[in-house]
Amino acid sequence: MGLETIFGKSWATSKMEYVINWARKFSFFDYPFVTACCGMEFMSTFASTYDIARFGAEFPRFSPRQADVLFVVGTVNQKLAPVLRMTYEQMVEPKWVLSFGACATSGGFYDNYAVVDGIDKIIPVDVYIPGCPPRPKAVLDALIKLQEHVQREKLIK
Ligand code: SF4
Repeated sequence: MGLETIFGKSWATSKMEYVINWARKFSFFDYPFVTACCGMEFMSTFASTYDIARFGAEFPRFSPRQADVLFVVGTVNQKLAPVLRMTYEQMVEPKWVLSFGACATSGGFYDNYAVVDGIDKIIPVDVYIPGCPPRPKAVLDALIKLQEHVQREKLIK
């Protein structure tokens, strides 16, 4: 009995997909787009107590061209919206976005014309992190959710 009979014709490609996604989810390179007070909790998550390095995501990059995970942290106003879009477009595929906190997700308590009421009006978002600001454990939980999402991704669509 051949391998194809046991596993089906997609065996090789699905195993390769599993390995590539496994490597990707444990080697995120982050780009922090930080605008406001949520930045304190972002820094806390990356410091030694919560130690995001345990999840393979310890390297914030200083250019979006070197990053594959965009952390949008804090309030995004209308003037910043094109900058956020351009930052996202500079990142190479595959790339993912985390919306960090109430302001990034919905505008938070800034219910006015100057603030974008959710970054998903500008760029696609993969995981939303609730809180004002989110606790570091919520950020780690979101990162694990993103890892699960990446592990399930199809390389050939
Ligand atoms: S969600 Fe709260 S802590 Fe975060 S940027 Fe907005 S006001 Fe600041």
